[in-house]
Amino acid sequence: MVNIILFGPPGSGKGTQSANLIKKYGLIHLSTGDLLRSEIEAQTPLGLEAKKFMDAGQLVPDEVVIGMISSKLDANPDTRGFIFDGFPRTTAQAEALDKLLTLKKTSISAVLSLEVPEDELIKRLLNRGLTSGRSDDANEDVVKARIVEYHNKTAPVADHYAKYGKFRKIKGSGTIDEIFGLLSKEIDDLVVERV
Ligand code: AMP
Repeated sequence: MVNIILFGPPGSGKGTQSANLIKKYGLIHLSTGDLLRSEIEAQTPLGLEAKKFMDAGQLVPDEVVIGMISSKLDANPDTRGFIFDGFPRTTAQAEALDKLLTLKKTSISAVLSLEVPEDELIKRLLNRGLTSGRSDDANEDVVKARIVEYHNKTAPVADHYAKYGKFRKIKGSGTIDEIFGLLSKEIDDLVVERV
């Protein structure tokens, strides 16, 4: 299996690039943000609880997102692999993911980190807020709170995977096609290594 974590702060392009990568490589897209928004849409108890955190720009508790990912892994036993988008966002989530994948006799192949300057992130998110219907994109205070959460809780996840030599930085500013080309090159190298 090829299991990729698309890493990077909010607004770095993880969702856009994941959508293209799953088509090219036949992988399954697992976005915890999308899964949580579906729960909110369906007004489930989990969704209503998560919404409070999301509206404040804070991370949802680890056990909630780990449980969601665990059931999605179980639901797709025969896939060629996964693209994890927006997960793991804490070291505890990364450790839990490693354990879940070990149980399935697989592991993370690489963590590809989209590097984008902070002023560009804020511009991109506020711009997306004009059309996405996402209230957490439309409010500058919430956007900034999400970036603070990223620095405090998510950035350390990079060290977790760097320890195993799995962490790669990718220039995340440029056109969507240019960035897709850089990501594809990394994934092609992994696929070749596995043949
Ligand atoms: P995203 O769509 O990835 O930008 O996520 C939107 C919001 O969902 C985040 O600001 C968090 O509140 C929540 N969220 C998404 N993924 C996670 C995660 N892995 N851990 C905790 N909270 C998450």
